[in-house]
Amino acid sequence: MPPIIEKDKCIGCHKCVDLCPVDVYGVQEKKGCPPVIRYPEECWHCNACVFDCPAKAIRLRVPAPLAMVFVDAPERKREN
Ligand code: SF4
Ligand code: SF4
Repeated sequence: MPPIIEKDKCIGCHKCVDLCPVDVYGVQEKKGCPPVIRYPEECWHCNACVFDCPAKAIRLRVPAPLAMVFVDAPERKREN
């Protein structure tokens, strides 16, 4: 299942685009816009984008069988 981007929180930094190992995200033409979900079925729920999004704008929908072993990304304290 693809991640959900909360567009009102997203600052359009595209960090998620750069870090996703399977290129789920794509960039929109306009700078500063939320990314698009280009390959939704490729997400393997690694949590990297959720963990590193500076705006905490990404949520994952974890399929039920996977949810039994899934652990949410811990809240990380900002270092600056
Ligand atoms: S990392 Fe977060 S804030 Fe940056 S583009 Fe992706 S969803 Fe938006
Ligand atoms: S959870 Fe992992 S695979 Fe899925 S969109 Fe985020 S970084 Fe990509």
